[in-house]
Amino acid sequence: MLLRHTTAEVLPREALTVNPAKTCQPIGAMYAALGIHRCLPHSHGSQGCCAYHRSTLTRHYKEPVMAATSSFTEGSSVFGGQANLLQAIQNIFAVYDPDVIAVHTTCLSETIGDDVPQIIGKARDEKKIPPGKQVIHANTPSYVGSHVTGFANMVRGMIDYFSEKSAAPTAAINLIPGWVEPADMREIKRLADLLEIPTILFPDTSGVLDAPQTGKHEFYPKGGTTVEALRQTGASRATFALGPTASEPGARHLQTKLGVPARVLELPIGLRATDRFINALRAVAHVKVPPEITEERGRLLDMMTDMHQYFYGRRVALWGDPDQLVSLAEFLADLDMRPVYLVTGTPGKRFEARMEAALAGRVPEARVRQGAAADMFLMHQWIKSQPVDLLVGNTYGKYIARDENIPFVRHGFPILDRVGHTYFPTASYRGALRIMEMILDALLDHKDRTSPEESFELVL
Ligand code: SF4
Repeated sequence: MLLRHTTAEVLPREALTVNPAKTCQPIGAMYAALGIHRCLPHSHGSQGCCAYHRSTLTRHYKEPVMAATSSFTEGSSVFGGQANLLQAIQNIFAVYDPDVIAVHTTCLSETIGDDVPQIIGKARDEKKIPPGKQVIHANTPSYVGSHVTGFANMVRGMIDYFSEKSAAPTAAINLIPGWVEPADMREIKRLADLLEIPTILFPDTSGVLDAPQTGKHEFYPKGGTTVEALRQTGASRATFALGPTASEPGARHLQTKLGVPARVLELPIGLRATDRFINALRAVAHVKVPPEITEERGRLLDMMTDMHQYFYGRRVALWGDPDQLVSLAEFLADLDMRPVYLVTGTPGKRFEARMEAALAGRVPEARVRQGAAADMFLMHQWIKSQPVDLLVGNTYGKYIARDENIPFVRHGFPILDRVGHTYFPTASYRGALRIMEMILDALLDHKDRTSPEESFELVL
């Protein structure tokens, strides 16, 4: 019993988080930056921060994640990191030759108060940035926000630095996919292609963090949104922000900056969220939904019907990122499951209201908690006081799953102890099939393991 000290009784506590349901802002900024073609993320802070961010991303994506650091020492901690960043910019372009360096700050450089735009300007004045190359930045102090807000801030940085007004508006639709797996980004592009809608998806980590094995090391794999495409986002007919926490700030910023209308949707995970996504794309682009998509939807409906008997009434605890949780909860409720505990450490304003809309009164006993006190400890306490049939969340739930002997489906970020999640989408109708398969396998494997011999059945 690794978590034997967790008590069922929830006592009031302040200024204490135990096993947070989030990670730190720069990880999200680094992930978003990797979605730009030929971009090297740069961590403006100490080596330890950068090592942690890189290793977390590497462990989740099972790919070597490259990033540079300003490598603060005692001197830079006192006098600021300007000299380190200027030197770093010069070295990075000389040694690694990226098209873009995406700088994000850390707790330390934010506390010192380093003015990164001023440092980038100085680097340009001193000709440390070669012609045609770019340095962008995002402020990501980790004593506020989470990895999701870090992602959102870097997306906003892309718009700040790249989006331009063009004389000739295009028919393209910008898609900000939110923090999803590379396979989900590929799946979202596939749906847009089937609808024959030109899109600019940014950031795009497909082909970067799931690049094929070619036998040759590519420092900058083929994938990622190009700088040229990022510039054109200002001429698109609309921006779809998928997931309000990760994507809305960028879409709203582009609307304010260049007048590109923003449309905010929940992540297209599950039946109804995918319906809304397809319908919104269809309406904006004035196209018809092709039979391939209708058939995929029909297959999902068929599987929902086939599996319903196993899912009905099962109580589920979920934790992770708000955008994922809202769409997952809606889908689980559509399956007649009961998402009863929902916890996210990512702060934000509308999570509870969004969750209420997603559940639409179908799970009145649902407990929803957000912020610093919404941690894995609290989740475990709730489970101890009233158990659940299933856990859905990132790797950090495995301790609860083991101690309480509850089936566990890994979803979200980070997944540190399994391989393959980056290759199979959970977005769209096809992704929903996979979610259902994973849930049913977990439930029935558990039943097989725990059934007494007299009720152990070959056919379930
Ligand atoms: S929380 Fe702050 S100090 Fe810690 S790794 Fe993240 S950025 Fe660095």
